[in-house]
Amino acid sequence: MSDYPVIRPMVVGVFSDFEVSLMLYQRQQGEKGEFPCLMFAIETEGGNKIIVDTGPCGPGEKSAKYHMPVRRTPDMEPRVALQKIGITPDEVEMVILTHLHWDHTNNCKIFKNATFFVQKSEMQFAIAPNPVQNGQYETGIPGHTPPWMEVFSQIQAVEGDMHDLVKGVHLIALPGHTPGSMGVAVETRKGVHLIAGDFIPLMANWEGDKKLKHIPGSIHINLDDYQRSFVKAEQIADVILPSHDFAVARHERYPIIG
Ligand SMILES: [Zn+2]
Repeated sequence: MSDYPVIRPMVVGVFSDFEVSLMLYQRQQGEKGEFPCLMFAIETEGGNKIIVDTGPCGPGEKSAKYHMPVRRTPDMEPRVALQKIGITPDEVEMVILTHLHWDHTNNCKIFKNATFFVQKSEMQFAIAPNPVQNGQYETGIPGHTPPWMEVFSQIQAVEGDMHDLVKGVHLIALPGHTPGSMGVAVETRKGVHLIAGDFIPLMANWEGDKKLKHIPGSIHINLDDYQRSFVKAEQIADVILPSHDFAVARHERYPIIG
């Protein structure tokens, strides 16, 4: 039986001093933690190489000025992380952006030959977000182009779910965190793995607590959509792969062998 498709997570930056309650709605307020920014590579049986999200900018760049402290060791440089798993950016044909927040869309331009897949509603929102979210989209900064716009000519807009982007890899609209958040459902030999994006930043969001079956993040645009997305994910996914959880990176590949 074929081993493919295989999903490989890569840590391409770390939030070194992040308010935990931003991840977990109204929980653990005042606590700070370290959280990785994950980029994923999907390799299919047919040899397709697909990247999901492209990570944040590194330290010393605009992250300090406009965002939050980001730690990035040399092995977390996206090109280096890709090299480690045998992929060069030039051979990547497809990049899926789960949404257009800065920590998921910097480094887009290293993928010169890729078509980028983004929800149409996310693109529309990112052009002129609510001003409180300008920073997250790197919009409205004088003289600055948001990183996703640097690959504008390579973007293919998606509306809603897309079945079989390539065989067994599906785009799933999961709004709530942002208007056009989407996940990537991958049919592996050990069940459907859902690369969730920031809709589920930590496994703790998915696992919930005594009060809630699933916990949304504090950064959201619509909690009703968010709840419907949780129900949709329950129906689709056997395994959840959150976007900012070190537990995901403990395994070099999914499905987990053994
Ligand atoms: Zn986000």
